Amino acid sequence: MTTQTPTTWPAGVIGRYLTVGGASVDITHDNPAPDAEPSLTTAHCTGCGRHMDHYWATHVGRYDNGRTGAERAAREWAQTHAGHCRALPKPTA
Ligand SMILES: [Zn+2]
Repeated sequence: MTTQTPTTWPAGVIGRYLTVGGASVDITHDNPAPDAEPSLTTAHCTGCGRHMDHYWATHVGRYDNGRTGAERAAREWAQTHAGHCRALPKPTA
């Protein structure tokens, strides 16, 4: 899952959705605590600042620790949000 892309996404971003307002919804893995292993997938809108956390399932023995389902949920939220969020990204200059 380490495909090379020519774009300059921020480190850790595993998915990005363009909103109708011209911002983006970035999907990253995150930690619930500074010293913990990643255990949730977060979708964050750079336009309006909304975000949605999807915690990984904790079923013992699952090969992916529930990550696949959380990523799917995060991507669905990002897709839906990107479709109607008209907030502009904050200028970085
Ligand atoms: Zn938004």
